[in-house]
Amino acid sequence: MSQELRGKVVADVIKNNLRNEIEEFKSKGIAPTIAVVRVGENPSDISYEKAIVKVAGSIGMETKLVQLPEETTTEQLEKEIITLNEDTKVHGILMFRPLPKHIDQEKMRDIISADKDVDAMNPINLEKIFEGDPSGLEPATPRAAVEMIKGHGFELKGKDVVVINRSMVVGKPLAMMLLQDNATVTICHSKTEDLKAHTKRADIVVTALGRPATIDASYFNEDSIVIDVGVGMTEDGKLSGDVDYDAVNGKVKAITPVPGGVGSITTSILLSQVMKACKKMNS
Ligand code: NAP
Repeated sequence: MSQELRGKVVADVIKNNLRNEIEEFKSKGIAPTIAVVRVGENPSDISYEKAIVKVAGSIGMETKLVQLPEETTTEQLEKEIITLNEDTKVHGILMFRPLPKHIDQEKMRDIISADKDVDAMNPINLEKIFEGDPSGLEPATPRAAVEMIKGHGFELKGKDVVVINRSMVVGKPLAMMLLQDNATVTICHSKTEDLKAHTKRADIVVTALGRPATIDASYFNEDSIVIDVGVGMTEDGKLSGDVDYDAVNGKVKAITPVPGGVGSITTSILLSQVMKACKKMNS
């Protein structure tokens, strides 16, 4: 059997730290608060929203839900975001993406205050990630992948890490975070020739293709550490990562399950970004 890298153990450590920090802030009359902005009724947004409310509640963080209809215009959303930017009781703003197609997403990225932008949409925060400047806010999913690796005691320094994804929400910021931890990083994508040649020689492989259960054991070696960020449904309706877990388990050193892996750290990381914003605002 491979070592199963569960997210819960990592998330519990993050939540315990947050719980103490929030208690301290509350004793000074400051209630750390996240505003969650949802436009429309996308089921995956609704389920993430529920998870945020639950986890925030469990650590004493306040949530403010802004639920807007699908027909909301760019101007209306802009007004909502500006109100949240100016609300001193709100420390972090998460706006679900993608937004409905008629909304100008580029404009929203610029409007959301960089100081409250807990999903790092604003180019100011993205630039800081690319510069290796730790003062900004970071997107939750790539940070969760890094914390999964480090939280289970694996070294990144000098290791060959292959990331299969080049999106702005996962692959590109993740590659920068890994470089910051002195890994040697290769980014693969749909035009990569001979993907297996890259993954097979890597120490750590992070997959985020979005193709459930399509990666089998032939992509890895017996010492591979496999971090599966992908989430989707197989043809027979089973929730799965990119990796065919049952086929790979036992043939690699360590592997994250889906569900129960990276996704179970993401919400805690998001809330840790709210605390980071709150501390900066009150320093
Ligand atoms: P995306 O924008 O569609 O990116 C997918 C990436 O995979 C692209 O870079 C694509 O290459 C690459 N790819 C697709 N097929 C490939 C193939 N056959 N070989 C090599 N590379 C291939 O998706 P995303 O928004 O980044 O999300 C990716 C996955 O992560 C999804 O399953 C999503 O559900 C999951 N996700 C999970 C969490 C979490 O908390 N666990 C959060 C966010 C997203 P090209 O660039 O060439 O198209």
